[in-house]
Amino acid sequence: MSLATRLPPELWCAIWELLPYEDCVSLSHVCRYWRDIAIHCPRLWTHLEFCSFVHGETCECVLCGTQEFDDSGDPLGPFVRTATTPPGSTNMRLILALAARSGALPLHLSVHTEPVRTDLTLLEDFGARLVTTGASDRLVLLHVAFEDLSTLRCLLGGLKRLPALTTLVTEQLYDDDDDIIIDAQSWYDSDEIDMPLLESLILIGVGWPVQDRGSTVAFPSLRSLACSFWDAEDVEVALNVCPALDELHVLDPFLPQRPIEYTWRLEGNTLSKLERIPFVRVSGIAYRSEEWAIDNFSGPSRPEFYLRYRGYDAPSDYALDIWLDLQDVELVGLTWTHPTEDYVALTVESSNGVRRTLIQ
Ligand SMILES: [Zn+2]
Repeated sequence: MSLATRLPPELWCAIWELLPYEDCVSLSHVCRYWRDIAIHCPRLWTHLEFCSFVHGETCECVLCGTQEFDDSGDPLGPFVRTATTPPGSTNMRLILALAARSGALPLHLSVHTEPVRTDLTLLEDFGARLVTTGASDRLVLLHVAFEDLSTLRCLLGGLKRLPALTTLVTEQLYDDDDDIIIDAQSWYDSDEIDMPLLESLILIGVGWPVQDRGSTVAFPSLRSLACSFWDAEDVEVALNVCPALDELHVLDPFLPQRPIEYTWRLEGNTLSKLERIPFVRVSGIAYRSEEWAIDNFSGPSRPEFYLRYRGYDAPSDYALDIWLDLQDVELVGLTWTHPTEDYVALTVESSNGVRRTLIQ
């Protein structure tokens, strides 16, 4: 009897559960015995990673075609498409097959797409096929990393309804470490989006939708939201469709090519809705956005309000207004936020508890 058949299948499954799904695919090709065990062990196939590097039909990279330029860099003629089929590959078929092996178990899916002009039709098709196979009903976590800002919209356009989803994370793959570029368009563009159990939503690189009157989209279970706001109306929309928020993490969308105005201020109804959220943190703050962040998001009685500055724009060489509107400061403390991290936290306390914490 070989070693492979000496251990019971349950034990093999327990060992393999610790491996990433690619290794489970590899070991399922070792021998017929292992393959039978792996295929019939749903727990091996619950954390999957879809990728697509297929270039879209509007892509104008050097792999897709050519274009001539003059000495000053201006194009001399139109882009000439030379690739007969789009370059790039995808593991879509594999992921759909593996998702079927996970049986009825909750599914975690990460999605990675490149290049900047990726094949969006393929994304929409992938979403639609997750629906027809029933996998979308079991999705509890979806993490989408992309260069093309339309990726999430297209994927969700195919998926539409995610009844079990609790966590959705978007992550824009950008070059400059510090700059968040957000799409002025919304991260979904249909009233058919339905995520009744969504608890945590992180939006980096996609904008919040401005809703039409009569829109029925809502996220009734959402407790934690991280996103950028373009203007006061964005905040109003977010608070209206997410009535159960406990945590709001505002990402200051620093846009060097397209500066946003920090002149807008929240008013009446929106401020009182915001006041119900006990924890608010604003990240990516620079000199010009500090007052905007405090005016809009500190709140008169919020127990926890955090400001996090951009790395090279720390509040050291200009007037710092962290006491703005605070009448009864009792304690100012300076601490390391974590023994292994190089962050310092400046905490301001009043009789209402910790009012502001600046992390640098
Ligand atoms: Zn291309």
